[in-house]
Amino acid sequence: MGPDSERERKDLVERLGKWGYVESAAVRRAFLAVPRERFVPEDLRRSAYEDVPLPIGGGQTISAPSMIAIMLEEAALREGEAVLEVGTGSGYNAALLAEIVGPDRVVSIERHPELAELGRANLATCGYRVEVVVGDGTRGYPPRAPYDCVMATAGAPRIPNPWRDQTKVGGRIVAPIGRSRLSQVLVTARRTSESKWETKEGTPCAFVPLIGSEGWRE
Ligand code: SAM
Repeated sequence: MGPDSERERKDLVERLGKWGYVESAAVRRAFLAVPRERFVPEDLRRSAYEDVPLPIGGGQTISAPSMIAIMLEEAALREGEAVLEVGTGSGYNAALLAEIVGPDRVVSIERHPELAELGRANLATCGYRVEVVVGDGTRGYPPRAPYDCVMATAGAPRIPNPWRDQTKVGGRIVAPIGRSRLSQVLVTARRTSESKWETKEGTPCAFVPLIGSEGWRE
């Protein structure tokens, strides 16, 4: 990591703060720490600190930093909390999550084995202890449940019931939810008791579809 990329990263975090996307010290620290250029394809590294989504292969994308910042702020994570990320992709968001909650607290699930391998390799190269598993994340990941937060980075038609079942009381689900495969609103659902949820609809967004038994069909 050269001084240039560090400067670019600082500039990006400053812009995200000025625009109101990064608000908390924890999210700010995470964005300052994770080298985004290491998670994007080599030929796109010069664009790593632009606020745009970038292709990562297999028709998938790494989301724009501002979108990720909104999701991380919504999640209101604290150190030590257990997180399930659905949609590993490049591993960048998993790295940000790990910066906030700490090593071995994040498990990330990806349906494409090649992308899971990419995410795993990127995370390991940058020294992040995150478990990456291959599977259908619409079913959650029972072996490490319950979670303080389930965060999805692909758009679902509705919140899958397994995510609800695997979230602790006090926990949050942050996910793009929409009636069409390519446009959603960001939904934050907080479990306030065994049987009650508070649900908030936020910003419109456009994630790739969440494909699986409790998501969209292939
Ligand atoms: N979080 C990623 C990052 O930081 O690079 C970006 C994720 S990309 C926008 C969405 C990912 O969700 C894709 O890699 C896609 O293969 C994955 N995906 C879609 N449906 C899935 C499912 N049912 N289970 C797990 N992953 C899924």
